[in-house]
Amino acid sequence: MMTNEPRHETTYSNEALYVAQCELGRGVFARRAIRREEILLAFGGPLIDFAETKRRGTLECMAIQVGSDQYIDTQAPGVFVNHSCAPNAGIRNDWELIALRDIPQGEEIRFDYSTTMDEKSFTMRCRCGTPSCRQVVTDFAELPAAVQEFYVCRGLVMSFIVRRLRGLWAGGPGRSVDLAERTALISAHGRCGQEMRPTALSGLSGS
Ligand SMILES: [Zn+2]
Repeated sequence: MMTNEPRHETTYSNEALYVAQCELGRGVFARRAIRREEILLAFGGPLIDFAETKRRGTLECMAIQVGSDQYIDTQAPGVFVNHSCAPNAGIRNDWELIALRDIPQGEEIRFDYSTTMDEKSFTMRCRCGTPSCRQVVTDFAELPAAVQEFYVCRGLVMSFIVRRLRGLWAGGPGRSVDLAERTALISAHGRCGQEMRPTALSGLSGS
């Protein structure tokens, strides 16, 4: 249950981003140098359920999970943002894509799809080609603890996933939790080394 709803369109600035071919098909690239923490785009589109994502198929629908049975049917150019196991961007506040570091002009923008995934059904073979590639894109709960902690501490995990993991933690004795979930619980409750900065809302314009 989301407190507010995403817009029906992905909003971004033409001045900052463009779509072009890459080795994975289409990708989103930086048109100019981008600063760390800059908001790159806000994912938007109709909210649909899991059954509807299956009905639309992977080619027609690249949905971002924002609830246990709730997805944004992402509109272009958000739909073209590819996955990386060592991303230069991440999703904050459930649909804002922000730069995790300074990004030079011409570099492709990518985020880690696992930060939005909690399905217990879908995996995807990874071809991101980074040295830290995990080979398969899985649910957030199945990521290595250090990777979970990296994302949780920076506020880059979908809020419904964090809430679910904390709910399990609070579930008390008798609650059975598998190994992957236990790992996630530990990292979701780990101490984060640095405070998260408030998101800057400037620099984003519709297009
Ligand atoms: Zn990878």
